[in-house]
Amino acid sequence: GVEIELAEVTKRYAGQKTPAVDGFSMTIPAGETIVFVGPSGCGKTTTMKMINRLIEPTSGQITIGGESALKIDPDQLRRRIGYAIQQAGLFPHLTVAQNIAVVPGLLGWDKKKVRDRVVEMLDLVGLDEEFAGRFPRQLSGGQQQRVGVARALAADPPVLLMDEPFGAVDPITRGNLQDELLRLQAELRKTIVFVTHDFDEAVKLGDRIAVLGNQSKILQYDTPEAILAN
Ligand code: ADP
Ligand code: ADP
Repeated sequence: GVEIELAEVTKRYAGQKTPAVDGFSMTIPAGETIVFVGPSGCGKTTTMKMINRLIEPTSGQITIGGESALKIDPDQLRRRIGYAIQQAGLFPHLTVAQNIAVVPGLLGWDKKKVRDRVVEMLDLVGLDEEFAGRFPRQLSGGQQQRVGVARALAADPPVLLMDEPFGAVDPITRGNLQDELLRLQAELRKTIVFVTHDFDEAVKLGDRIAVLGNQSKILQYDTPEAILAN
């Protein structure tokens, strides 16, 4: 993983009275899983999108591995950051396999390696290989989310941003995916920012938990043990 640093990051959407995110500062250590927990509308997704450069901060600085996010070209950024979201965000005109193969394809992996990786990723998220040729609209919401996670992980990026990635997945599969993520993380030590509403999920997955209030104000930032002790 690589360190991510946010310094006084503010986002004010056009027409908004109060900023969605107001002066957010945090150092996300390389190789750690940080979980953001907070009420709906507190700016969690906005913060994730700013790290990913899907939206620009109104002010403030974001660095990824010591480099200003503004200076990393968007293609490079996509290779370094895997992004999985609740709505899965799959490309509707691409099959499951093609969705998973997008970033490996950008990276120019050879066909055999991509094919093997697609199979490996489907297996990782517990989807049978028969799903490879299906289109997103032919999948349930939970299945789409699993493909979204597979796509985010496919090119083995050093950073993973996961915005309620397991929200629509059934409880048993969710438990399996959480276990998979923990196993993966023990091995690969990626830098993960994980957003959830589920406090149990936060405690299970987080090296540290950031409890956020309105405008992404950091109310608590500590290990799960310390937060549970409070
Ligand atoms: P969360 O992920 O914590 O639910 P968001 O980051 O999605 O919060 O939203 C933070 C605030 O910014 C909310 O008040 C939301 O309504 C507002 N917001 C989000 N996206 C936009 C947008 N594109 N334009 C205007 N306001 C937005
Ligand atoms: P293309 O003609 O662009 O190769 P394909 O649909 O054949 O389109 O494949 C897109 C990507 O998805 C390829 O990299 C391929 O390796 C992978 N892929 C397609 N089908 C499968 C499958 N059944 N199992 C594993 N990988 C697959």
